[in-house]
Amino acid sequence: RRHTVGFIGLGQMGYAMATNWLTKRVTDPNNAGVEGGFVVCDMDTVRAQSFADTFNATYPRANVTVASSPADVAAISGTFLTMLPSSPQVKEAYQGSTGILSALRSLPEASAAATLCIDSTTLDVQVAREVAKQVKELGAAMVDAPVSGGVGGAKAGTLSFLVGGAKEEFTRASPILALMGGRIIHCGASGAGLAAKICNNLVLGVQQIVVGEAMLLGQKLGLEPAILAGVINSSTGACWASSVNNPVPGALPDKAPPCERDYEGGFQTALMLKDMGLATEIGASTGSPLPLAEAAEVIYTAVVKEDATLARKDFSSVYKYLERAAEE
Ligand code: NAD
Repeated sequence: RRHTVGFIGLGQMGYAMATNWLTKRVTDPNNAGVEGGFVVCDMDTVRAQSFADTFNATYPRANVTVASSPADVAAISGTFLTMLPSSPQVKEAYQGSTGILSALRSLPEASAAATLCIDSTTLDVQVAREVAKQVKELGAAMVDAPVSGGVGGAKAGTLSFLVGGAKEEFTRASPILALMGGRIIHCGASGAGLAAKICNNLVLGVQQIVVGEAMLLGQKLGLEPAILAGVINSSTGACWASSVNNPVPGALPDKAPPCERDYEGGFQTALMLKDMGLATEIGASTGSPLPLAEAAEVIYTAVVKEDATLARKDFSSVYKYLERAAEE
């Protein structure tokens, strides 16, 4: 069990992160842990099985198996990572009847003490702290380690991990996170990684809207998208939302942002809306004024309500929403 590792939630991010983790494990000639295997779980069982089949076909010694529940993952793996949509799914995966806590409860003391839970989901700070406390009461360790860097960073293995937990937990998690990311930052105690992530996404969510506004306005004024993006990206308006995730096709001729594939394969608008909600909720409970986050939440809510297709697509598709509003 000590050498087996697990992964729960093989979505846009998780699939790519698990791929990097496993590939590095399997191709490291010094890694005795490969014998322990790799166990995956997703409520989309077809996706989990396809992950396992793909890997076992490429690396037969990878020994990837599919577990039917998070509890089954925790029962057989000493270290595992959860990468789920948000708070309700993390609660379910940990506290549910077939959740991780139920497996930890049945473990011998020494096995529980050797268990490390890593949650990379972006979720509510309070929920994360509550779950980590429950894990620790059962003798295991847990860090929150949400990520920044998007699907591109997940695929390239260059994600930034923003980690919350005790120093020794951070030290235990770091070499594992290094297999999937470039920068591993200890932000503070339990929940601190999420606090940093929510603040970062507050900036990103607002910027993506304003970049859409500027790109639309520029075109109305007769500017070519690539010229305008080139100016912004080499001027004081430069930001990731414009230079990497620019929402206008043709604006970044040397790159392939989600808008070049009809906004598929990025960070879903519904998930960005969730992150705006995480910011405004924590803003209200801490007495921090967030007028732009509130405005952004209203806009992403309108996008998601108006068009269920855009809800699933990359959040830069907020530009499509603005474009439609301009046509009305
Ligand atoms: P996703 O919706 O693509 O993936 C989530 C996966 O979890 C899906 O495969 C789903 O079937 C699975 N799942 C849901 N509930 C489950 C459960 N109870 N048990 C097992 N599996 C379950 O989402 P994503 O884009 O991979 O994002 C995951 C997390 O990472 C979110 O919190 C998101 O905010 C954050 N994030 C995403 C990006 C991005 O660019 N996509 C970037 C940074 C952070």
